[in-house]
Amino acid sequence: GKPLIALVGKPNVGKSTLFNRIVESQRQALVEDIPGTTRDRYYGEAIVYGKQFQVVDTGGMVGDSTTQQDQFSQMIKTQATIAMDEADVIVFVVDYRTGITQVDRDLARMLRNRQQKGQHVLVVANKADSHMMIEGFETDMKTTLTRFGLGEPFPMSSIHGHGVLDLLERITKLL
Ligand code: GDP
Ligand code: MG
Repeated sequence: GKPLIALVGKPNVGKSTLFNRIVESQRQALVEDIPGTTRDRYYGEAIVYGKQFQVVDTGGMVGDSTTQQDQFSQMIKTQATIAMDEADVIVFVVDYRTGITQVDRDLARMLRNRQQKGQHVLVVANKADSHMMIEGFETDMKTTLTRFGLGEPFPMSSIHGHGVLDLLERITKLL
């Protein structure tokens, strides 16, 4: 089948915004309809530089503000694990604006194990909306994210689109 890209990360980091951007923008670039293209909420298809792949958004994660933090974290990990199991490339999304928390560190540890087993992982710091934030990334969050040991992290803005093409290029190079 087509390679699968999984978007994982805490709630509210911008996974669904990124998912929609990848699927919507690429849909317009399609020169022909792909049979079986799903309009499912969590799975989408994209084609970048002639390479087709599926994208899965782990946005099905449940939980709300009344959920205990421990349970919440556990649900995130469970859902992320399901999505990651089948993925050829895992895109680990963190929130540049709110910074790194224990949940990010836990996910990073799981991803290191997967990377060691041969799965590809890309780390993106989302919500880097301005040039100032992109420049600040070099001196600020980059060091922290590099310590995850998952490869070179890079800033992105799902809302504005900065860095999204860069991400897609990195993905296609891994496929
Ligand atoms: P998810 O829970 O990880 O799927 O996150 P969502 O895609 O639902 O986004 C959570 C919130 O972050 C929403 O209010 C989005 O509009 C916002 N958001 C997503 N991407 C960006 C971004 O690049 N910059 C900013 N400033 N906000 C973003
Ligand atoms: Mg979501």
